Amino acid sequence: MKSGNIGVTTENIFPVIKKFLYSDHEIFIREIVSNAVDATQKLKTLAGKGDFKGEMGDLKIRVSIDKDAKTITVSDNGIGMTADEIEKYINQIAFSGANDFLDKYKDDANAIIGHFGLGFYSSFMVSKQVDIITKSYQDAPAVKWTCDGSPSFTLEETEKAERGTDIVMHLDDDCLEFLEKDKMEGLLRKYCHFLPVPIAFGKKTEWKDGKQVDTDEDNIINNVEPLWAKKPADLKDEDYKEFYRHLFPMADEPLFWIHLNVDYPFNLTGILYFPKIKNNLDIQRNKIQLYCNQVFVTDAVELHGVIDSPDIPLNVSRSYLQSDANVKKISSYITKKVNDRLASIFKNEREDFEKKWDDIKIFIHYGLLTEEDYFDKAKAYFLLKDTEGKHYTLDEYQALIKDQQTNKDGQLVYLYANDPDAQYTYIDAAKQKGYNVLLMDGQLDAPLVGMLERKLEKTTFTRVDADVIDRLIQKEETQRNKLEAERADKLSIVFRSQALPLKGAGGSADFNVEAQALGEDQLPVMMTQSEYMRRMKEMARLQPGMAFYGEMPDMYNIILNTDSPLIREVLEDCEKQTDEALKPIEAELRGLNARQAVLRQEQDKKKPEEITQEEKDDLKKCGEDIRAEQQKRDDVLKGYAEKNDRVHQLIDLALLQNGLLKGEALTRFVKRSVEMIK
Ligand code: ADP
Repeated sequence: MKSGNIGVTTENIFPVIKKFLYSDHEIFIREIVSNAVDATQKLKTLAGKGDFKGEMGDLKIRVSIDKDAKTITVSDNGIGMTADEIEKYINQIAFSGANDFLDKYKDDANAIIGHFGLGFYSSFMVSKQVDIITKSYQDAPAVKWTCDGSPSFTLEETEKAERGTDIVMHLDDDCLEFLEKDKMEGLLRKYCHFLPVPIAFGKKTEWKDGKQVDTDEDNIINNVEPLWAKKPADLKDEDYKEFYRHLFPMADEPLFWIHLNVDYPFNLTGILYFPKIKNNLDIQRNKIQLYCNQVFVTDAVELHGVIDSPDIPLNVSRSYLQSDANVKKISSYITKKVNDRLASIFKNEREDFEKKWDDIKIFIHYGLLTEEDYFDKAKAYFLLKDTEGKHYTLDEYQALIKDQQTNKDGQLVYLYANDPDAQYTYIDAAKQKGYNVLLMDGQLDAPLVGMLERKLEKTTFTRVDADVIDRLIQKEETQRNKLEAERADKLSIVFRSQALPLKGAGGSADFNVEAQALGEDQLPVMMTQSEYMRRMKEMARLQPGMAFYGEMPDMYNIILNTDSPLIREVLEDCEKQTDEALKPIEAELRGLNARQAVLRQEQDKKKPEEITQEEKDDLKKCGEDIRAEQQKRDDVLKGYAEKNDRVHQLIDLALLQNGLLKGEALTRFVKRSVEMIK
């Protein structure tokens, strides 16, 4: 019997392993089983080369639990080890600069394990003692190595009938949960699902006489020949779907998949699936980020899938993976593959592609928003959908709207709606005018609009309700029978006095009132929402640091159509009713305005220092008088408006059309309507 110290330079590595690796300690099973797989594969290789001539037997790994002895044993019938090999591979682990490294990576168990090749020693994360009982395929006595977690070990000859290695882990008292059958089976499925050697964990069970009993058949927990390792030509759609269900039992059927099989410039096999994302899924900014991190393979497109490549280092953390050159190459390869696949489906099965567009667009939008270069690639199959459900590529769409939707500055104006029901009137008006309206109701459409404006030359996106139809796409200045400015002002004041800001739980709204000649066929009152402010508020919801915009009230414009007979009637009636009261005020105002103009003119001729205090006071007083008279005028108009049911009715109709008339105001509107039709 031999005993000695394990060759580590660190005083005692085991407490370190235990302490720092605690949170990840379940990976010990992956490490120990991987070693058993390696030993088995090595035996196959030796047999293949003719260096091993004996019986290979049924090559299998067994994981067993002994609840009484509180041990987990992993057994293989691979190459085994001689005493010398134990000395060399187990006892002398090289730890150069161990302390520095441990310090740096103390929070990252995977990095530590990967760096040190600590695979076997990870068993000490859960064990107070580990035994290796092993018999080499070479003609050598079986040996037993035992270590109790201190750097000292014992090594002695022992009896072992079969070739191979048993790793016996005597569990720590605080790790006894690993003795639970379900727990261990779950871990084996998680970490060893696709290992290439059969892994048996107990026996298959069956129902007999009202209870579960073991059968003779081994319970194999892994799938030694996963689908991706098979030839695509031998596989049917159903195989891929079935494999997907197996991998992601909770997910809906995938949209389509890509089978990867490359051996140059790197070795890579795998299957990527495009999952179906439910449209009502509330994708917030942080949700996307989180979700994206789950899949290291690509940032451009988010997929479900399995990737298998010997070029990817296994024992490393995810952050390390992202900087690994091979992983980067693989990632860009996959992105390219996905891109090619999308382009080819679009080219060959456009109808099918269009049908799936609503489901896949989220990936493409996400790619466009996160990867600057992706636009040039995606252009080939990126689609816009209009409110009638037709799809267009960007080129097609440009050609479609070029004639009708170019404004006077040569900008192509893309009109869009994000809520076709709520924006029905506006969409309808745009269609009447010969415009096309896009449907942009996806989760990422708001930022996408900004991105497309940057990428496409001379292009503006405008939501259909951003302005009245005539000004949505401004062409030549249209000359209508405009009301003189003074009368238009009066009209605006009348309505503004009654369009009070709304405050409510769902946010607040404020109104601007404007008089505009929109044409006799248009509604008397319209409401629009500035594209700019609305977008700022939308962005504020997605981006931190813009809360300021988020808290502002929604700004709406109420537009009075001065071409509408109804509006003209209101105006004429108003003029009639207020004429007497307004006349003296207006006369006074005209006088004051004239006087103000003269005073200004005189002072403009002088240098600032030549203007006397008296002159300054005069001008100031004149301004104050004007404001006072204006206030009087406004009060008169307000007095008229307050008692005028038509004014209220018209404002309420505009609010109603935009879903802003609620509660008490709505009740008042209904009552007033009833009165009016009596
Ligand atoms: P790594 O697997 O990274 O080399 P380990 O610490 O896990 O590091 O294992 C060290 C060595 O011990 C292995 O390279 C192998 O030679 C030997 N070894 C470990 N487990 C077994 C086993 N089950 N059968 C035969 N040899 C083994």
